[in-house]
Amino acid sequence: MHAVQFAAHGDRDVIEYAEVPDPEPGPGEVLVDVKAGALNHLDLWTRRGLPGIDLEMPHTPGSDAAGVVADVGTNVDRFDRGDRVAVAAGTSCGTCEFCRDGDPTLCPDFAIIGEHRPGVHAELAAVPAENLVPVPEGVDWTTAAAAPLVFGTAWRMLHTRADVTAGERVLVLGASGGVGHAAVQIAAHAGCEVFATASTAPKREHAADCGADHVIDYEATDFADRVRELTDGRGVDVVVDHVGAATYPDSLASLAKGGRLVTCGATTGPNPDAGLNRIFWNQLSVIGSTMATPGELDDVLELVWDGTFEPRIRETLPMSETAAAHRLLENREGFGKVAVIPDSER
Ligand SMILES: [Zn+2]
Repeated sequence: MHAVQFAAHGDRDVIEYAEVPDPEPGPGEVLVDVKAGALNHLDLWTRRGLPGIDLEMPHTPGSDAAGVVADVGTNVDRFDRGDRVAVAAGTSCGTCEFCRDGDPTLCPDFAIIGEHRPGVHAELAAVPAENLVPVPEGVDWTTAAAAPLVFGTAWRMLHTRADVTAGERVLVLGASGGVGHAAVQIAAHAGCEVFATASTAPKREHAADCGADHVIDYEATDFADRVRELTDGRGVDVVVDHVGAATYPDSLASLAKGGRLVTCGATTGPNPDAGLNRIFWNQLSVIGSTMATPGELDDVLELVWDGTFEPRIRETLPMSETAAAHRLLENREGFGKVAVIPDSER
């Protein structure tokens, strides 16, 4: 079979589409005949190399995929050959205090398929059965592959961590990215007034189509000033930020008294000035969030499968062109998710 691989960290040219032996499903694992995969920003970090993560090389990346069960290992009773499934990428120990308490995203051993362990961007992938969710008939493969990681992440950010309620004002930064465009849809569905930033007119149109009530061109105007204008000086209740150092000061400045900044990433850097004066005086909360629990994923995917939420696909490429998929993400070209299809499936 063929798999996306890299033998060393580096630029996009380390990515190959290599011929490798077919994987065998181990105990508790399911062999998935992959029909589609989707890229995340995580894939860029994994390719470049992350401090503290020592991957076995060559590494197959990919955290999002969907396909058909081709075989099952021993001790698997949830799935049979022919079942339609998608990957839920978070793995945990199952026995620590946090796992026992029902929140595996807090597990000290929490890891992500494709980032800390072999990923699923291949023609066949052996995946632990607990990392698969059923996909109903009628849901297309790119939708099934593109939804889990970003919709799960955005759902946990907004509902579990920021605890949004109808009528609140929510600002989503980088609305054209995977998590951003999911957050716009989820906040709108929750009955919030949604403000979204994006750099180009087509991206802002897409953001409005996803449910944003107000779109802001952050390159033409300071987004915190624009938020103040649009809210008669009050600010928003929640900011969804995965941009990091470049936006953090303005994110704090966009918040109303008592507001919450919820973050799931720091693409532009992890160490902005803390802004403690603003935090204590305005009684702000800065809240971290990572991935989603299986229960949160079930809740949000039900709303993807029934069409309430829709992952937008900016481009679908053959897996052999994964380097081009990375370029689209690195250059912030387009809106929504980049999907990849095994060349043999095209
Ligand atoms: Zn655990």
